Amino acid sequence: MSHPSTETVSKVVLITGASSGIGEATARRLAAAGHRVALGARRTDRLDLLAKDIEADGGSALAHELDVTDLASMQGFIAAVRDRFGRVDVLVNNAGVMPLSPLAALRVDEWNQMIDVNLRGVLHGIAAVLPLMQEQRSGHIVNIASVSGLRVDPTSAVYSATKFAVRALSEGLRQESRDVRVTVVNPGLTRSELADSISDGGIKGAVDEMMAIAIPATAIAEAIRYAVSQSADVDVNEIVVRPTAQG
Ligand code: NDP
Repeated sequence: MSHPSTETVSKVVLITGASSGIGEATARRLAAAGHRVALGARRTDRLDLLAKDIEADGGSALAHELDVTDLASMQGFIAAVRDRFGRVDVLVNNAGVMPLSPLAALRVDEWNQMIDVNLRGVLHGIAAVLPLMQEQRSGHIVNIASVSGLRVDPTSAVYSATKFAVRALSEGLRQESRDVRVTVVNPGLTRSELADSISDGGIKGAVDEMMAIAIPATAIAEAIRYAVSQSADVDVNEIVVRPTAQG
């Protein structure tokens, strides 16, 4: 008998950083695929509009304020989702910031912000859902790293360091888990609001120029949907999605 390669069940999917870009596109795509989505971010006005939009299209969505740098906030998000839907099947650790700058500029506050959101935020997500997923003996953690987690460029040292770290801890979590699936998705240049966090005008201008070839956030959402839809014994470990024209 053939092995069913995908599941069609409706899962409860939490998405951090759902107020724009890849997180928003992922929420829309997974809701359209029949999953129930929980939207976390700081800009709750945007989350409320997105949840209304998804529900107007026949989907099921919960908007909840979330600051991933705060473990208690992450735990509150998970608890609210559990109250509403009864379980947590998938956590997409997507929230991120990218204030690029050369190390010599010593923008230490921005280094710390990247560590707090991009790395500590992912760890907080894992800490908040892993006990529940272990208890359920099922679950899926999708971590959004980056092509900058595969290579380092000038001005990206700290951003890359956080993304290399996300890949490292994902691999460790994968090896330690027997019931919980772990997927890393590494986007290349993708249209979103990410470059808005760059405070250096010259670097922001250069990134904006590079973004001319960027792909839509829906391309990354589709890769996440693919990983989520596999059957429980199939773990898509890592996906890289770049624009065709990106070197
Ligand atoms: P956006 O800036 O459009 O989205 C980032 C999201 O993160 C926003 O929803 C923002 O919400 C959220 N966020 C930031 N800080 C926090 C916080 N402290 N707590 C909760 N949420 C937070 O960028 P992208 O969609 O591009 O970024 C999504 C992920 O993709 C990031 O991890 C990024 O590093 C990664 N990525 C993006 C690439 C690209 O080219 N766009 C390439 C490679 C990786 P709010 O401000 O409302 O809290």
